[in-house]
Order: sequence, then C-alpha cells, then structure tokens
Amino acid sequence: MKVTAVNCAEQKDSGQPVPNPLAPIREMVSACIQCGTCTGSCPNAFAMDYTPRAMWRMVLSGETEAIFESQTFMVCSACYYCTLRCPRGLPLTDAMAALKRIAAQQDLANHRRSVRFYQAFMESIRKHGRVHETEFMARYLISMKNPVLALQFTPLGMKLMAKGKLNIGSPAKGTFRLEAIFRKARELEEPK
Ligand code: SF4
Ligand code: SF4
Repeated sequence: MKVTAVNCAEQKDSGQPVPNPLAPIREMVSACIQCGTCTGSCPNAFAMDYTPRAMWRMVLSGETEAIFESQTFMVCSACYYCTLRCPRGLPLTDAMAALKRIAAQQDLANHRRSVRFYQAFMESIRKHGRVHETEFMARYLISMKNPVLALQFTPLGMKLMAKGKLNIGSPAKGTFRLEAIFRKARELEEPK
C-alpha cells in the first residue's frame, strides 16, 4: 500500500521511526462501541463502500490498505450528524477529515481526482468569495493534466450553459476578503 510504502521509505532513509499517520485517528475513535448510530445517521452512507461504523473498526484494526482504497471518507460531506449523535461523543467528522488530509498529503492515486476537485473549488472561493464555475473547472482540469477528462465534462457543461447556470464572465476580483479566514483555518489545521 502506498501509505505504508511512503512511510517505510522515509524510515529507511532517516533511520528514525516514522509516526503512523493513522495513530491520531485511532485515538479519536478508540472509545467506539460499534453501536452503528453513526452509520444509521449518515445521509451519505448509501454511497459509501464501507459504512462509518465499519471504517472505525478498520481504523482500530489498522487495516491501512483497505482504508485508503475506500472512498468512504471522500464521500463524507462533513454534515456533523454522526458527531452529534455518537453516544460516546467521538469527533467522527474530524476523523473523516483527517483521513482526507492523509490521502491529499500522500497524493494517493485513487483519491487524486477528489483532492484536486476540492482544492480547485476552495481556491475559487478564496479568490472570489464564491465559486466562479468556469474558472473553478479550468483550475481543476489543468491540475489533472488530462485532456480527455475535459471531454467527459462537456455534456454537463452544455446542459448548465443552456440553463444559464454557468458564469462565463470574468471573475470579480478584490471584492471579497476571505484570506484571513483561510489563513486562520490553516493555522487550526496544522498539527500541534
Ligand atoms: S456512533 Fe460512535 S460509538 Fe457508535 S459505532 Fe459510531 S463511532 Fe462507534
Ligand atoms: S459527517 Fe460525514 S460521516 Fe458523519 S454523518 Fe455526515 S456525511 Fe456521514
């Protein structure tokens, strides 16, 4: 598995033990009693390959390969419903976000599309205060370096344009000041 392979290579080069990236997440869900309330509450569970309850079981069992082959954490829309309802009060949405961060940091191939899509989306919001659809899609497609991918989106783009849902004008500049909010979020997300 790529996650393990990357860590092993670092360990070999430096001679220092490398922290297991799953360790903090295991800590977050260590009190899970497998009651299934998170799965029963999750509006996206139907689209997940492993339910949230199963994901926490896999985290506790250290099934790194299966965890990062799964799309479960990418399908999480951070609605916080599971976090609110977990009888053990576990930070489940944060745990899903931590799995997303590992996949992004390690540039795992099977999560690259989701990660690049999310990054392009957020960059557009940071710059303009809202998503500028055409600029956002241009950013995403350039970051993927795959000309065939653009063709896949053409029918959808045509439909949206026909309904007047695509903003093709120049994006507004300097109207919104979200930089401070993004900076603060970055500070909060940095490992202590
Ligand atoms: S709701 Fe909480 S305790 Fe129950 S399975 Fe989910 S994480 Fe575990
Ligand atoms: S935060 Fe994610 S995992 Fe939890 S209920 Fe919402 S979509 Fe499901």
